[in-house]
Amino acid sequence: MKGLPAQTDFIVVGAGIAALRAAIELAESGQVLLLAKKEFPTFKARDDKSEAEWLGDEDDVILHLQDTLEAGDGLCNPAAVKILIDEGAERIDELLAWGKHHTTRLSFELENPHTRSRRLHAHGESAGKQILRTLSQKVDSLKHVSQTAFVFITELRTEGSRISGLSVLDEKGTPQEIACSAVLLATGGSGQVFSNTTNPDTATADGIALAFHAGAEVGDMEFVQFHPTALFMKKVPRFPLPEGLRAEGAYLRNFELDRFMGKYHPLGERAPLDLVARAIVHEMEVSRAKDPFVYLDVTHFNAAKLQKHFPRVYASCMAYNLDITEDLIPVRPAAHCTLGGVRTDLDGKTNVAGLYAAGEVATTGVHGANRLPSNTLLEALVYGARAGKAMRNVEKVSSHAAPNPKAAYSNGPVDAGVEELIGQIQNLMWSELGLVRTRLGMQKAVKMLEEMAPKLAHPRTRRGHEAANVHLAALLVARSALAREESRGAHYRMDYPDHDDKKFLKHSVARGDKVVFV
Ligand SMILES: Cc1cc2nc3c(=O)[nH]c(=O)nc-3n(C[C@H](O)[C@H](O)[C@H](O)COP(=O)(O)OP(=O)(O)OC[C@H]3O[C@@H](n4cnc5c(N)ncnc54)[C@H](O)[C@@H]3O)c2cc1C
Repeated sequence: MKGLPAQTDFIVVGAGIAALRAAIELAESGQVLLLAKKEFPTFKARDDKSEAEWLGDEDDVILHLQDTLEAGDGLCNPAAVKILIDEGAERIDELLAWGKHHTTRLSFELENPHTRSRRLHAHGESAGKQILRTLSQKVDSLKHVSQTAFVFITELRTEGSRISGLSVLDEKGTPQEIACSAVLLATGGSGQVFSNTTNPDTATADGIALAFHAGAEVGDMEFVQFHPTALFMKKVPRFPLPEGLRAEGAYLRNFELDRFMGKYHPLGERAPLDLVARAIVHEMEVSRAKDPFVYLDVTHFNAAKLQKHFPRVYASCMAYNLDITEDLIPVRPAAHCTLGGVRTDLDGKTNVAGLYAAGEVATTGVHGANRLPSNTLLEALVYGARAGKAMRNVEKVSSHAAPNPKAAYSNGPVDAGVEELIGQIQNLMWSELGLVRTRLGMQKAVKMLEEMAPKLAHPRTRRGHEAANVHLAALLVARSALAREESRGAHYRMDYPDHDDKKFLKHSVARGDKVVFV
C-alpha cells in the first residue's frame, strides 16, 4: 500500500456515489485524494455487454417536482429539487455513456408514491451498484485521483476559520496529518444510530460528527426515514423489501396471520409509506410475541412473474433459504435514510470555508421532511458533481499540517465497554426516537444520552471514535425531535399529531446543545 501524502489539493472522504462523482469533477484541477474507512467498491467482470438504454421518456419534470415537494411536506427547497430533476437527466445520460461497455439494461419503473414510472431499475442488479460500478471504472482511469482504503478521519483541522487538513489513523492505526485546500464529506447515512437499520456498519454518522466539531451547521436531524418492510431474520442483513411488492398487491399479515392494513387506511397495503410503517409498529406492540415482526405475503403472486419482476428480492431471500413464492417473509421497519445532516448551499458548500458535503450526509433541501423513494441516488450523483465543480474554485494553499497535539491513538484493543455503549444508544434510539415519538420518551433519551457523554469523551480507538460519533448524532436527533413540537413528514409525535406551520414551517439547526428553527 502506498503511504498517505503529507499534503494534497483536495480530499474526498467516502467511497460512494457522491464521493466518486465529485472526484471525477475535481480530477482536472489538482491532486485528489479519496479516503475510505473500509475498502473501495470492487466489481467482478461481467459478460453482459448489452447496450444501455433509458426508457424514462414518459416522465414529466413538473410531476417529479410535485411528487418530491409533496413528500417533503413543506420543507423542501424548490430550487434544490428543480436542480435535482433538471441536472439528473444529464447525469444519467453521462453515466450511460461512460458505462456503455458493461452496463446492463437500465429502465424506469413505478414505485409508490411516485405518480409515473420513474425509478431507475437495473434488471437483476441494484441501480446503486450499477452506478457505483460505472463511476469506479471512470475514477480508476483518472491520473490525478488516488484512493486509500482503511483510513479513519479523527478530526477536521482548521486554521483561522478555514479548513486546512485532516487528522487520520492510517491502516496500521498510526496517527497522521494531511494538509489540503478543501475537504468534501461524502460519508453517507447514519443508520447505525438505531438498532434496526438497513444501513451498513460503516454508517456511524462520522461525517456529521466531524462537521459539527469543526463548526459546520447541522440541521433537520429529527427527520429519519424508516423503511416499513426490512427483512427480519437472525444474523441476516436488514435488506429493504421494495415498495413495489405492495404496489403489485403484496399483503401484510400480523403474527396471527390476519391482514391488518384495512383497519388503518382505506388503501390497505397501498397506504402511504409512513402510515404503513406506523401500523406495523402498532401491530408489533400489541402482538404477544417476544421478538415481534409481521409478514409480507407474496405467495399468491404468479411464481414465474415474481421471479422475473423481482429477481434480486427472490435471489436475496433464497440465499437465506427463504423461498418467497411459498413462504411468508418476516419483516420489521428499520431506519433507512438520514434526511437531515450537514447544511449546505446548492453547491455543497458549508458555512466553514473549504468544507463541502454531498450525498446523504448533507442536507441541501431536496428531501425536506421526508424523501420521495429513489431520489437519494440521484441526489448523490447530482450534488456530488456540483460540489466537485464548486471545489475547483477554492484557492490552493500549499502548507504542511502541524502535528496534532491530541493525536495519540491506536487501532486497538477496543476501548473497554464501547460495544455495550453503542448497543445501549441504538436500543434507546429505536425505542424512544423511532417511528412514534412522545415527549416523555424523548426527554428520557436526551437525559440518558447526556449522562453517557463522559464515557465517550476521550476515544482512543477507531471503534471508540465511531461510538462517540453515533452518540453525538443520537443526541442531535433526540434534541431536534424534542424541539419540533408538531408532526411533519417522517417525524411523528403522539402528543403533537398535526402540523404547526406557524411555528415549525422551518428547518431545525443544532447550535451547541440548543436547537433553533430558521
Ligand atoms: C439497502 C439500501 C438500499 C437502498 N436503495 C435505494 C434505492 O433503491 N434508491 C435510492 O435512491 N436510494 C436507495 N438507498 C439510499 C442510497 O443508497 C443512499 O442514499 C446513497 O447511496 C447515498 O450515497 P452517498 O454517496 O451519499 O453515500 P454512500 O453510498 O452511503 O457512501 C458513503 C461512503 O462513505 C464511506 N464512509 C463512511 N464513513 C466514513 C469515514 N468516516 N471515512 C471514510 N469513509 C467513510 C462508506 O464506507 C461509503 O463508502 C438505499 C440505501 C440502502 C442502505
